[in-house]
This record gives sequence, structure tokens and C-alpha cells, in this order.
Amino acid sequence: MLRSMRYGEADRILHLYTPARGRVSAIAKGVRRTRSRFGGRLEPFFRLRIELHEGRSELLTVTGAQTIDPHARLRGDARALDAAARACDAVGRLFETTEPHPGVYNLLCRQLALLDERAGAGPLRGARAAALAFRLKLLLAAGLAPQLGACASCGEREHLVGFSGAAGGVVCGACEAGSFPLEPDAYVFMTEALAQGLADVPAAEDRVLAQVERAIAVTLEHHAHLRLMPAAAPVS
Ligand SMILES: [Zn+2]
Repeated sequence: MLRSMRYGEADRILHLYTPARGRVSAIAKGVRRTRSRFGGRLEPFFRLRIELHEGRSELLTVTGAQTIDPHARLRGDARALDAAARACDAVGRLFETTEPHPGVYNLLCRQLALLDERAGAGPLRGARAAALAFRLKLLLAAGLAPQLGACASCGEREHLVGFSGAAGGVVCGACEAGSFPLEPDAYVFMTEALAQGLADVPAAEDRVLAQVERAIAVTLEHHAHLRLMPAAAPVS
């Protein structure tokens, strides 16, 4: 579940991400009553097996729910909860239709499981890097992966010095107009993050991660007209 909002006296509207139907909205009736048959099962970031009834309206009705994984540890850790909310927000906004993307569903399950596994062990190390690697994989699933192998404008393979949202990837010195400077480390981070699993996200300095985040942001702005919240909460 991505989100849950109060509705009426005792109901909730849920935003769900499903393997077969993409993002759907459903109403859970009476769920806020103490004796609801759903108990405490319908909570954000839960992985659930849900039965939905399709009526005449676009809103589905929840008729049954079983917990697959409540991610209990994550729920006791404010930073992990914040990271889970940002991951769910990115999925909900980048994949907001009912077009199925089972790969995105699996990616989100994996990210939530990793956050749960690492929760409660002090400050989340590498939280921003992990969130950015997750976003890069979402871009790939959305068909928006930045071009990294060669200049996105002219195909030059060397002297790649910038990143251009309009061109959709890294650009060379001759094509850098309209781009911002991208350090080799940021290039390496993006390449490795896309090639490796979510559990093996490479480490990188904050300056480098800021460039990666900007590259993701300009790609989304140019090609999906979408602006996401920052990938991670500021470190306090
Ligand atoms: Zn070029």
C-alpha cells in the first residue's frame, strides 16, 4: 500500500500498487471502527494480498485483506518510515495509471524489505544513495533511463562532461550547452546503480549524489513533466 487517507466517518481511501493492475484506488469501509474485520492490516507500506470488488465507480472496494509482510521494524524507525514514504510517493507519481508494471511492483517490495531489514540500527547509512539508485531503476522501468554510454546529442564516447535533461543523458564538451557539469564519479554511480541490485548500491560523496539527483530531476521534468520530493530527508 502506498497511501491511506481518512474518508467519511469510518472509511479510508487507499492507494495501492499492484503487480497486475498498476496503481489503483480502493475504499476500505468501516476500517476505522475498533471492531473492523480488517484489524490493523490496512496500513501504508504493508505488503498485502487484497481482494477487491469492482463496482460501477472507478473506486474499487476492499472485500478482504491478508498481510504478506507488515515491515514491522520499519514502522518503529522514523527515518526508515520517511524513506518508505518517499519511495512509495515516487512509484505512485511515476506510475499513476492502471497499466501493469510487475517489475516496478517487485522493485518497490524489494526496497521496502531492505528498509525494514536495516531499520532500527541507528542512522540509515547510505540512505540517499539507496533512494537515488531506486529512482534510477524506476526511470529505467518507465523507459526514461538516461543515456550514459555516449554523448546523448552526438554519440561521442569520450570527454563526457555534462548532463542534459533535454538530450536525455550525458553530453560531451562540444554539446554541453544547456547541460550542467557532471563529475566522473556521478557517471560511475549511475552506471553501477543501474547495473547492480538494490542491496549493492555503491557509496558516493554527497556532492556526487547531488549531481545524480539533479540528473534524475531534469530527466523527469523534461520527459515526464514530473517533480518528485527530495530523495532523502536532510540529515539533521
Ligand atoms: Zn556531443
